[in-house]
Amino acid sequence: MSLIITDECINCDVCEPECPNNAISQGAEIYEINPDLCTECVGHYDEPQCQQVCPVDCIPHDPTHVESKEMLMDKYLKISAVA
Ligand code: SF4
Ligand code: SF4
Repeated sequence: MSLIITDECINCDVCEPECPNNAISQGAEIYEINPDLCTECVGHYDEPQCQQVCPVDCIPHDPTHVESKEMLMDKYLKISAVA
């Protein structure tokens, strides 16, 4: 599944440059994750990089975007092919 940024986000901008898929961007009020681009960092890292750096721990898994590791790897391969 992809991750989601909650409204506890303090707009610190620490996570955005850490995302290997450019899935994070500044939204209208807080930072947002594009679920079509978030692979939970599968294909790049063992752990979600945004979760590792977020100082307020506001990036949980998104229960509305449940995906298996295989699906995440598929997404990573598709994104890599386009890039
Ligand atoms: S889990 Fe990885 S791919 Fe997903 S938004 Fe965070 S840094 Fe980007
Ligand atoms: S690191 Fe956390 S608090 Fe900072 S912009 Fe990203 S989601 Fe928001």
